[in-house]
Amino acid sequence: MKMYIGGEWAARAKTVPVTNPFDGSLIDTVPHANLEDVALAVESARRGARAMKATSAYDRFLMLRKAADLLQARAADFAKTISLEEGKVISEATTEVGRAVQTLTWSAEEAKRMRGETIPLDASPGNATKFGFTVRVPVGIVAAISPFNFPLNLVAHKVGPALAAGNAVIIKPASDTPLSALKLTELLLECGIPAEGIQCLTGPGGAIGDALVSHRDVRKVTFTGSRDVGERICKVAGLKKVTMELGSNSPLIVMPDADIEKVAVATVASGYGNAGQVCISTQRVIVDGKVYGDYLDALKPKVEAIVSGNPLEPKTQLGPMIRERDAARVSSWFDEAVAGGARIITGGGRSGALVQPTVLADVKAGMKVVDDELFGPAVAVARASGIDEAIALANNSRFGLSAAIFTESITSAMRFALEVESGNLNINGGTAFRADMMPYGGLKESGLGKEGPSYAVEEMTELKMVVFHR
Ligand code: NAP
Repeated sequence: MKMYIGGEWAARAKTVPVTNPFDGSLIDTVPHANLEDVALAVESARRGARAMKATSAYDRFLMLRKAADLLQARAADFAKTISLEEGKVISEATTEVGRAVQTLTWSAEEAKRMRGETIPLDASPGNATKFGFTVRVPVGIVAAISPFNFPLNLVAHKVGPALAAGNAVIIKPASDTPLSALKLTELLLECGIPAEGIQCLTGPGGAIGDALVSHRDVRKVTFTGSRDVGERICKVAGLKKVTMELGSNSPLIVMPDADIEKVAVATVASGYGNAGQVCISTQRVIVDGKVYGDYLDALKPKVEAIVSGNPLEPKTQLGPMIRERDAARVSSWFDEAVAGGARIITGGGRSGALVQPTVLADVKAGMKVVDDELFGPAVAVARASGIDEAIALANNSRFGLSAAIFTESITSAMRFALEVESGNLNINGGTAFRADMMPYGGLKESGLGKEGPSYAVEEMTELKMVVFHR
């Protein structure tokens, strides 16, 4: 596909291949944008921002609602694109499209809700003759940089609110998965988004990212991706608003009073979706010693029943990782854990980019599978004694995006909710829960700011204070 900049679809002599992670076959190519393309995209987006600012909230509502409807109508085609470029199994790709429809629908509705408030200036001494109110305005140009693992819905989470708020948006999709974003751009243009109100720039983030995020006319950077790239963007971006949706190694606590069967089902649902390449995937399972063996016994057959294979086959539940080198990294982390005393309960093998669904037990701090973000189809199980130790282990991480506890005790659940350092806290459900309208974002090194259309609109707008002096 071509990229979309300067109000037109553009090809470049240099291209980036887009391959199918399952069999390595070439699906398509996209242009390798260069620094001049970044300048062109921003210059065009300046005009686009003026065009977007001139639209009414109702216009933006109608365009985004139409986009949601059109995406629903093309769901099968988008799901196939996601599956081919990302390796996501087709059932999960279909779910992602459905979620993106919801994200655009919520964004459309948020276009109607941008509001300021009256500020009672006469309530401060000597200001009886003053009258003030706030106005919420678009920032202008939003740069939206997205990761490979949800190539449609995470783009929708940035583009929907940016447009709803009346901004121009420059998308920089992940180089492994640019096609879903390009198709979404095409669809949004069909729905009436002004020709320069949206740009979709393809090419390596390492080569064009600095120029994009540091450009003075880009007033907001919304980034979803790895911690290290996020940190770099924060350093390079300079004085502007940033939202950072970064990684995690989400913990799931199992207390002795939990329904073990339910926990095992939730672990499979939360730990192995998209081959574990989900930012809120369950990675660290912290199990009270009283039920440690029971939990592993319940989990093992469920993990062994996961069907791996070709993502386009409807029966497949687990597909490949995005790249073979990531699968090799995950295998090497298993080896390191085993060398440090961990046991492989099931799995542990790999064929190319396909990693067997794996359960590691007896893990401890100091192992990469515990300390870092694994981003692969495995859970790492550790033993704890009581709620104090379980909470301490859960908090022993530089990340804090999602956490879960299974317990029947209100006291344990309350302590978990109040004491665990995490943006999302799930009680009697797995870590990988996200409804697209909820405030979503991490604590600690998992990020800054929140997504979810109404929260993202706040992050992509500025408040102006107006004072009438009578
Ligand atoms: P990544 O390697 O950090 O890449 C993310 C995006 O950043 C890609 O578009 C990439 O472009 C671009 N990029 C790379 N270097 C850049 C630079 N110097 N300046 C600007 N942009 C740059 O992450 P990923 O491997 O695609 O995604 C996995 C990560 O995302 C995991 O850590 C996961 O936890 C996180 N994630 C977080 C959330 C959340 O909501 N918190 C959701 C999903 C994923 P190229 O592809 O061209 O390199």
